[in-house]
This record gives sequence, structure tokens and C-alpha cells, in this order.
Amino acid sequence: MSDHMITTQVLPGPCRRCRSLVLTGVAEGVPVNADAQPLDRDGVFAALLGGRSTYVLQRGELVRLDATRAGLTGPVVADHRCGEPLPAPPPAPPPRAAPPAAVPYISRNANRVREHLLAHGPDLTTGVAVRLGLSVETAENLLRRLVAAGQAERIAGVIPAPWRAVAAELIPPY
Ligand SMILES: [Zn+2]
Repeated sequence: MSDHMITTQVLPGPCRRCRSLVLTGVAEGVPVNADAQPLDRDGVFAALLGGRSTYVLQRGELVRLDATRAGLTGPVVADHRCGEPLPAPPPAPPPRAAPPAAVPYISRNANRVREHLLAHGPDLTTGVAVRLGLSVETAENLLRRLVAAGQAERIAGVIPAPWRAVAAELIPPY
């Protein structure tokens, strides 16, 4: 950067004509009025196509971008033109929904049984055994372990009582 040209800290403020927020300062001796809104790649491209100078904001100063300064990093802004906003980055995406509650792990087969009940609805011990290729005894043991962990329950009042999975958010900590 040339020492003999003055660069000043930019000051944010309203444009005197259109009142939109601009950054005012001097970049290497040249007075600058830049849009305060940083640009994304499309915005930079549009600024260059429109013949508008672009600047990188560094330590509160505007550094004019040219071919020798392509590697500078920081927010990029462009010369302000009243009523001609440049493409801005899209709004930040909304925060992602919380992941589903983690179900404590018991065993691979217990997980298979629970997933079967979740996918197909309540089932009898024999149904679980047949559909998962387990012995009835094994299926019964797995179902009882799921019940003990709060991950499944027997539907009361139905004979024979089918088993059903308990919703993840209702399962107590292991
Ligand atoms: Zn203006």
C-alpha cells in the first residue's frame, strides 16, 4: 500500500441522498462511499460488471481490490449507487431442528425389534419372532429388555397383549 496516500477509518452513516447505510472514508487518497452490505460472489461479480469499485474491509479501512490484491480476505463491499443495491448473500438458513432424541443402545437385536415395532406398529411376540427370524424365546427376552429400558411397552387390556415401541422422547435415560 502506498504510504503517501491517505487511508482513513471508514465511518458508517446514512447516504446523504437516499439514506441507506453507507461506509464513508478515504482509501489511498480517494474518497469512498461504499454500501455497508457485504457482497457474496454474485454481488462482487455484479459490481464489477457495473463498473463499480470493490473494497475489502480490513481493520476498519477500505482496501481497494484490484488484480494484485485478489488474495485479500475480509468482507467485500462496493461503491454505493443510490437505488442500485447489489446482490447480497441469502439470509442465513434457519437453525436446524434438534436431532431426534437418542435412544440408549441395548443390543443390535433389541434395536431391530424396536425398529420393527416403530415401522410396523404393535405386534405380538410370535409376530416379532417370525418377522425378524428369531425364536419366540429370544423375541420375548428382547422385548422384556426393551420394556425394562422403557423403550417398549405392552398394550394393556388387549389379549394377547401386543408390544409397542415407546416414543424416543418418552424413554428415560439409561
Ligand atoms: Zn445513496
